[in-house]
This record gives sequence, structure tokens and C-alpha cells, in this order.
Amino acid sequence: MANIDLAALADAVEEEVRAVYAAVDEIALANHARVLSAFRAERVSDFHMRGSTGYGYGDAGRETLDRVWARVFGAEAAIVRTQIVSGTHALALGLFAVCRPGDEVLSLGRPYDTLADVIGLGGAHPGSLTALGVTCREVADEPGGDVPLDELVTAVGPRTKVLYLQRSRGYAWRRGLDLQSMARVIAAVRERHPGITVLVDNCYGEFVEDREPPAVGADLCAGSLIKNPGGGLAPTGGYVAGRADLVELAAERLTAPGLGAHVGCAPEGYRLLFQGLFLAPHIVAEALKGAVFAARLLERLGYAVLPKWDDLPRSDIVQAIRLGRPERILAFCRGLQRGSPVDAHVIPEAGPLPGYADGVVMAAGTFIQGASLELSADAPMREPYVVYLQGGLSRHYARLGVMAACRELLEADR
Ligand SMILES: *Cc1c(COP(=O)(O)O)cnc(C)c1O
Repeated sequence: MANIDLAALADAVEEEVRAVYAAVDEIALANHARVLSAFRAERVSDFHMRGSTGYGYGDAGRETLDRVWARVFGAEAAIVRTQIVSGTHALALGLFAVCRPGDEVLSLGRPYDTLADVIGLGGAHPGSLTALGVTCREVADEPGGDVPLDELVTAVGPRTKVLYLQRSRGYAWRRGLDLQSMARVIAAVRERHPGITVLVDNCYGEFVEDREPPAVGADLCAGSLIKNPGGGLAPTGGYVAGRADLVELAAERLTAPGLGAHVGCAPEGYRLLFQGLFLAPHIVAEALKGAVFAARLLERLGYAVLPKWDDLPRSDIVQAIRLGRPERILAFCRGLQRGSPVDAHVIPEAGPLPGYADGVVMAAGTFIQGASLELSADAPMREPYVVYLQGGLSRHYARLGVMAACRELLEADR
């Protein structure tokens, strides 16, 4: 392996995966059409980009962006805000909006790492759901990726208020939840328990398929603007989309009861959010091609990958690569960082991060801090030493970055 011609291998891989790239393009076209028609239907104009100050009363840009977002997501309503600081914050807004003391959240699989503190798994944070008297239970997903449907339906109890689903794999060696499977889960649970509220962690899933969770029956979904739907342009922010009454409750959590979605300014304007959303279907497609390329390249270098390059549909932009050893994780991340446009001289090391239990190493030489859609690799330093790769503002950049990572990886194994 040491003397491998990486450039030739990369060319061969690109040739091999062509049909999958074409399938990705087809989805991007459908998503782009949906976004465009939402912009036109809401009569987006130049003045909507300008923003506002102070309370932001009557901010037409904010209101229009919310409505465009709702249309794109197949939702009744949405709030899209730079005041939502991250995906975790957006999801917390959704959970706190819906849950009241005595309620239970039933999660399919373990929620993403940063949600553990929000929910209060493993030691109640004073501000967590657990501290409020909301409990959380988990139905383990099956390793093969099949949803344990019967088990899930029977696990719903009299106090179960929320069914919590995560679209992406997160930091786990498992399949994500594609929308067809999500639709099946929601229908099965609703049939027996019509009153349940379905909340979806949509991080990394936006625009990967040709619909979004509200279009398959989710009551609420939430995510981050520095991931998929920000299109690489949104400087910060998050969103909550879904049923109008629940979105209003989430808005009251974000601001205050009585104020809800009617306040909040954007002194810098909304152009980057509108333009980022407009570009998002294309950028997500580029990132997906990067993931497909990486999956096949790393597989040909002898590593187990999930999903495989030709596994369709994908449910998120994340590519998991099992490297098996901590030194390899560090080498891969070092190489990816070295291939970045920003902070290429920095050497990533594992360290503590707020919200994460294990040390995490992150390679992200990004224009926007932590914007993993640009191209990033990260890994919790734990068995089985899997690195999670995502993003790529262009597939060409993704290829160059992945090759830089592989060069370092081959060097480490020498
Ligand atoms: C990134 C992510 C989150 C948390 O988002 P932050 O913006 O990092 O707070 C939650 N769930 C999933 C699946 C994610 O990928």
C-alpha cells in the first residue's frame, strides 16, 4: 500500500462512481426547483435582504425568510434566526417547546452527543429537561440499520409526549434514517398513538433527499445554518420548522411568551441566509459527491466505510470511515487540515468540547468557524476509532482534501 499511486486511484474512483454522482444531481435538480419556486411564491425582493435593528418589529426580511423556509420544508411555519446559535440550540427550542413536567421523550437510538446535556442523560444539568421532570427513554436501533418498529410502537407509554428521531447517523457506526423509513416509522406510531408529537433532528440531512421531514409527517424539525441549509454562506444560525402552533411555542422559548416570532432583528441583513438557502441544494450535492468519492477511495485503501459508495438513498452528508486506531484518526485529520484553505498550518489534536463526553478531534479549515459543510472531519476518541467526514463546498475541493488526508494516513501506516 505504501507506494500506491493515489492520483491514479482517485481518477479510477471518480470514473467508477459516475452513476451515483448522476443520481445525486437528479435530487439536487428537484430540490433546486422547490427552493426557486418558494422564492418566487413569496415574492422575495431586494429590500428583504436589508435587515433591521432593535426589536425588529415588522421586519419583512425575517417574515419572508420564515415563509420561504416553511414552503421549502413542506411545513406550516418556520423560524430561521441568527439568534439561534447552533443546531443543539434549535433542537433544545423544539424539545422545551413541546415538553412539560411529567412528559416523556422516547428516542429512536441514542440522540446526538450534545443533546445528552439538553435532555439530562447521565447527570442532570440544572437547566435540562430531566431537571424539569421530563424523562427520556431510548429504543436502541438495530445494528443493521433496520428500525425495530414493533418495539418502538409498544414502547410508547401514557406519558410519552415526543417521539424523537434523528435523520443523520451522528457519531455512531449506524445507518441514518432515510425519509421513506421515517415515513413508515411515523405512520406506524401515529396509527396507535395519534396524539404523539414527532420531533426530528434534521442536522446534516437537509437536501440530501427530495423532501424534508415535515413532508413525511414530522411535527417539528430543527437544524443548523452552518450545516446543509446555510449553503456555506450563512454566517451562523438555526431553524425550527413544522406545525404552526409548535413553531410558535419554539419562538416563545427563543424570545419570550407574547413576543414569539414577532421580534428579532438582523443588523447585517438577510442576504447570506437567502442566498445560502438558494445555493444549498447544489452545495449539499457537492458534499454528497465528496462523500461518495471518499467512501470508494477509502474502501479501496482497505478501510470499512458506512455507507458504501453505492448505498442509496443516503440520509445525510456524513461519511463514516473506520480507521481502527487513534494514530490513524489523528493522521487523517492532520492531512485534511493541511489541505484546507484556512488554518492549513494548524495541527488538530483531540481535546474536550462543550457538550461532548469523550475527547474530540476536529479538522476544519473553514471560513466560518466550525462550518462543517465546508469540509471537515471529526472523531470522538473512542473505540472503534471511526472518523466522520462531511462537506465540501465543491466536489473538487472535497477530492483534494480527502487525498491530502489519505496521503497522511498512508504515511502513518508506513
Ligand atoms: C451537528 C449536529 C447536532 C448539533 O448541532 P450543533 O450545531 O453542533 O450544535 C445535532 N445533531 C446532529 C445529528 C448533528 O450532526
